[in-house]
Amino acid sequence: MIPGPFTYHRPANLSEALAVLKAHGDEARPLAGGHSLIPMMKLRMAAPEHLIDLAGIADLKGIREEGGEIVIGATTTQAELIKSDLLAAKLPIIRETALQIADPQIRYKGTLGGNVANGDPGNDMPAVMQALGATYVVQGSGGERRIPARDFYEGAYFTALQQDEILIAVRIPAPPAGHGYAYEKLKRKIGDYATAAAAVILTVSGGKVASAAITLTNVASTPLFAADAAKLVIGTALDAASVKRAAEAAKAITDPATDGRGTAEYRREMAGVMTARALAKAFARAKG
Ligand code: FAD
Repeated sequence: MIPGPFTYHRPANLSEALAVLKAHGDEARPLAGGHSLIPMMKLRMAAPEHLIDLAGIADLKGIREEGGEIVIGATTTQAELIKSDLLAAKLPIIRETALQIADPQIRYKGTLGGNVANGDPGNDMPAVMQALGATYVVQGSGGERRIPARDFYEGAYFTALQQDEILIAVRIPAPPAGHGYAYEKLKRKIGDYATAAAAVILTVSGGKVASAAITLTNVASTPLFAADAAKLVIGTALDAASVKRAAEAAKAITDPATDGRGTAEYRREMAGVMTARALAKAFARAKG
């Protein structure tokens, strides 16, 4: 299939992009790497009449440290995330996750902003952003808004982003040095979306878990923040019984569909397995 006809816009700055978006309402969509939007257009599941290419807007690119936060511009590609020394030092889970997205060709074009704004439950970065306590900075005709990643996802392809808004950056509080992290993803083959995946960020003090965040990918219509599961490991030395209880609590909030990646029962079970593996790996990596 080929996409329907559309008008291509390439604004040089954000205000121009916002003006085009406002002028065309529902008929317009931002275009970042195009690796989710263009396939949807080819399948005729999306038919925007105006595509607003964000690639010419220099302000939307780059990775920098600002106070205690890491700020990543929306059009920073997944390949750039992998190459960043700052992220490798401060937020290694981002590199670990980006390396599990699709394949190198897609990662050279696909952006962080597109991955988190898309609203596809199969995208890997949203759960990681929720685990990290990230905030999305969006700009629209009414000004700037900051939306916690944990409040952003409303349903498959439904997010808190308004039609006239563009995601400009993701702000992530840098976790303490020596924190533990892991993104464990089960997939059928290289380049596949997750059958189930889990992200864990934790800190350890005196051999016990001092803080923990657990999130899940592709086992419901949105990424899942498993708050109860995380509570069950805090204060423990991550013994087998605590891990089992946390994995069960994570499984309990899933609602996967039966699809080509497996039955709902299998995918729910795998959400528990990924949670247990991510917890063990994060704990082993943590210092404290
Ligand atoms: P686009 O496709 O350009 O846009 C996606 C959506 O987000 C569109 O609705 C667009 O309007 C909107 N959008 C984009 N940027 C902004 C912005 N700044 N502000 C507001 N709205 C915006 N992803 C994974 O996470 N894991 C995988 O395993 C994986 N496997 C893949 C395998 C294949 C074969 C392919 C083709 C893609 C795969 N992807 C996977 C998706 C890939 O990571 C995409 O690049 C990503 O989901 C979207 O990023 P993009 O920059 O390409 O966005």
